[in-house]
Amino acid sequence: MRSVIDILDLSKEEVQELIDSALDMIENPAKYAKILEGKKLATLFYEPSTRTRMSFEAAMLELGGTVISMADANSSSAAKGETVIDTARVISCYADIIAMRHFKEGAALAAANKGSMPVINAGDVGHCHPTQTTAYLLTIYREKGGVDGLTVGFVGDLKYGRTVHSLINALSRYSGIKLVLISPNELALPRYVIDNTIIPSGMEYVETTSLEDSIADLDIIYMTRIQKERFDDQAEYERLKDSYVLDAAKMKNAKADCRVLHPLPRVNEISVDVDDDPRACYFKQVLNGKYMRRALILKLIREAEAKPDTKELGIATRLKRMPEEQAKRCRCGNPKCITFTEPSTPNIFVTEDGENYRCAYCETAL
Ligand SMILES: [Zn+2]
Repeated sequence: MRSVIDILDLSKEEVQELIDSALDMIENPAKYAKILEGKKLATLFYEPSTRTRMSFEAAMLELGGTVISMADANSSSAAKGETVIDTARVISCYADIIAMRHFKEGAALAAANKGSMPVINAGDVGHCHPTQTTAYLLTIYREKGGVDGLTVGFVGDLKYGRTVHSLINALSRYSGIKLVLISPNELALPRYVIDNTIIPSGMEYVETTSLEDSIADLDIIYMTRIQKERFDDQAEYERLKDSYVLDAAKMKNAKADCRVLHPLPRVNEISVDVDDDPRACYFKQVLNGKYMRRALILKLIREAEAKPDTKELGIATRLKRMPEEQAKRCRCGNPKCITFTEPSTPNIFVTEDGENYRCAYCETAL
C-alpha cells in the first residue's frame, strides 16, 4: 500500500489519472455512489481545520463509505502522551484509510511508516497539503482545458506561503509554464525554490513587485494573503498592502479568460466585488478539492487491497535511504519536526546525490 504525504508522491501520470477519475465521478455519480461500501475513513486531526475535515468526510460518504473521526485528537490522545505512531496503529484496527492533519512536520509520514493502512496527509503545519494542490490542478484543468503552456502569477506572500511552493512543485512537471512571481521584496519566493525547483525544471520565471503591471499577462492569478506580522517595517506594510489586493478595477485589465485561485480563507486580499466575476474560481476550487479527495481515497484503498504487503512511503521510498544503523546515530535539528518532539519515531534520512542527506519527515538538511 502507499500513502500520499507530498504532492510529489504522485507522478504526473497519476495526477492525470486522478483528474480523469474525478471527471468521471462528476459525470457518473451513480457509478461511484456505493463503490466503497463497507470501507471506513478515519479523520485524525490534531489541529482544527473543520473545512478540510468535512471535505474528506463528504468525499468518503459520496463513495458509499463511512467515516469515523477524531476531530480533536490533540485533546484526546496526545494529551495522554500517546505518540502519533501509536495512535495510528490503534486507528489501523478500526479503519481502512486515514486522513491526518498535524501541527508537526512529518507526522503523517511517521503514521504511514508504522501503521498498516494508507495515510493521506491533510496538512502538516505549512509543510505539505497535497490534496489542496490537486484541487488547484483539477480547477485549472476544468477551467483551462489543461495545464501546459499557461502563465501563472503568484501574488502576495511567496516567502511563507507553502501552498505556493507546493503548487510550483506540481507545475514544474508540465511543459511551457511561465511563472510571474509578484510580491513585495520582503516576501519574495525563497531562493531555494528557484534554484531547486524552477531552474532545473526549465520553467520560465520573472520576479516583480507590481500586480498592476503584470496582470494582463496572466492565465492564472493565484492570490495569497499578506500578513502584517510578516513585515519588520510596519510603515512599509501600510504602503504596500493595497497594491496586492485584487479588486474589480484591477480585474478590468486581466485577460478575459484568466482564472483566479486562492488557498482560502480569504480575508481582504480579494475584494468581494470580484466574487461574481466568472473568472473567480476560489469557491469552485473547494468543490474540486472534494472531487480530488474522492479520487485519491478510491485509488489508495484499491491499491492497498491489491498490494497489502508493500509499503510505499513517498520520499522515503523514492530516494536512497541512509542505512538504519547510521540513521540511529543522527538527529534532525528542526524543532518543528515530529522526530524532535517524539524521539521514538525512527529516523529516516534520504539523499539524492549519495552525499547530502535530509530528514525524510521535514526535509531539513542534516
Ligand atoms: Zn526532520
